[in-house]
Amino acid sequence: MSVAEERIERLHTLARAAATAGEAERARNYVRLARRIAERNRLSLPRTFKRFTCDSCDSYLRPGTNARVRLRDGHVVVTCDCGHQARYPYDES
Ligand SMILES: [Zn+2]
Repeated sequence: MSVAEERIERLHTLARAAATAGEAERARNYVRLARRIAERNRLSLPRTFKRFTCDSCDSYLRPGTNARVRLRDGHVVVTCDCGHQARYPYDES
């Protein structure tokens, strides 16, 4: 695992911890930082990172708190509080 990948993992952990502590803005900063590192190093973000972050507002998503998760037509549809929706195939998780 490269240094950049390790930093992304670390930021993901920090973002999750901040979100759990109710510090949404701090969580968002970690998410943005991780995205920037991935971009700069041409890395793709881990799937779990993508699943738990909003592409539109960079929130760290916590189903039941700032995101709703629904099953629809064999897809998982995650709706962020900002209104952005992400769809994933159901069987991929
Ligand atoms: Zn959002």
